[in-house]
Amino acid sequence: MSVERLVVVGASLAGLRAVEAARKAGFAGSITLIGAEPHLPYDRPPLSKAFLDPLADGAEPEHPFFRSEKVYADELTVELMLGEPATGLDTERRVVRIGDREVPYDALVIATGAQARTLPGTQHLAGVYGLRTLDDAVGIRAAMEAGARTVVIGAGFIGSEVASAAKKRGLDVTVVEALPTPLARAAGAQMGAAIAALHERNGTRLLCGTGVQAVTGEGVVERVILDDGAVVEADLAVVGIGAVPAVQWLEGSGLTLDNGIVCDEKLYTGVPGVYAAGDVANWVNGVLERRQRLEHWTSAAEQGAAAARNALDPENATAYGTVPYFWSDWYDSRIQFVGSPEADEVRIVDGDVNRDGRWVALYRSGDRLIGALTVNGPTEIMKYRGLIMKQASWHEALAFAATRKERAAARAAVAV
Ligand code: FAD
Repeated sequence: MSVERLVVVGASLAGLRAVEAARKAGFAGSITLIGAEPHLPYDRPPLSKAFLDPLADGAEPEHPFFRSEKVYADELTVELMLGEPATGLDTERRVVRIGDREVPYDALVIATGAQARTLPGTQHLAGVYGLRTLDDAVGIRAAMEAGARTVVIGAGFIGSEVASAAKKRGLDVTVVEALPTPLARAAGAQMGAAIAALHERNGTRLLCGTGVQAVTGEGVVERVILDDGAVVEADLAVVGIGAVPAVQWLEGSGLTLDNGIVCDEKLYTGVPGVYAAGDVANWVNGVLERRQRLEHWTSAAEQGAAAARNALDPENATAYGTVPYFWSDWYDSRIQFVGSPEADEVRIVDGDVNRDGRWVALYRSGDRLIGALTVNGPTEIMKYRGLIMKQASWHEALAFAATRKERAAARAAVAV
């Protein structure tokens, strides 16, 4: 069937890229972008970074909107339905439901992302935040401006960025992590510990292997009680314990839901006309030959565009594959990761995690390079991404790393 009406659910990064790609591909039909939040689409990574930084004279930071209202109206000619969460999907009749209203589609891209996991029993307390939305960031920033004693629950990337921001402001900050080693899933146990040590090196208290028993206070958070009975006084508690894909509204729709929306390598859900993209998509990544659901900016953007192109021209749909990439900024360090942390061996090929503020670690699976981590190595990381894409052997990767290290040493010697 020819597509005249494209509907995109989820007005954030992947949804916006879907709209832009559709227009770029010459699609002249109608586009409707449905978003649960009242805001124009905005960028999330700054929310746990620059957005939390203090500004001169107590000024407020700009909200990180991707585009102005005018661009949606005049350039992208898209109908925005913001502040209106989709509540259901009828794939037989090809309509998205918003309460008792219906929005018909010929092609549908679902990009509803993920929601911050909440800590049970804290909903009634002011001063307890997840960090997923602009509204969360505005609340956290205001608390920091007021000098809040900050407890971050969960030493993942977002929580750790919040801790860095609090520390930068000179606030009292404690990070509590239930697992003995933070970031083990994201970077492997050895590198997770090495990265987490950045907290201690920057004077932030990190308590690992300690769950939270309760967060208490009279209407507003006053203390966090740990499993071992220890009490940490707090005016702000930021819960960074991961995110869950936003699929509740799709229950009973006939889409396969299992850790997100299950789709194939073309981001196709198997239901005519329906594609998924971004943090909500659980798809087959042909490059790493595995099923994945990523929560990374770069792949969400690329998937949005790919899903729209495929939805508009299913007969010529192409697979989307990638070497996953993400970055995170803690204190003065930039952490970057490419590939997969599921490895047989992790080897430091440059720098020393105990001494230097800069290092490069490579991840081996069988005899192949499968992942790479750099801390303050921005000129290195994409080189390893290229090697993983080329399916380089471990031997090749080590030889390449040795050459890079020699060159860097030679440059440093000249500079002295
Ligand atoms: P989302 O950005 O989650 O957007 C989904 C949108 O869909 C939301 O606006 C939501 O309200 C809406 N929605 C949900 N349900 C419905 C519904 N039923 N109807 C209509 N709309 C709905 N990645 C990195 O690689 N590096 C970083 O440094 C980094 N930092 C981050 C910092 C923070 C604070 C956060 C929250 C994320 C960060 N990320 C980072 C991850 C990155 O931002 C996400 O991967 C990206 O935003 C995913 O885009 P998305 O469009 O798939 O989903």
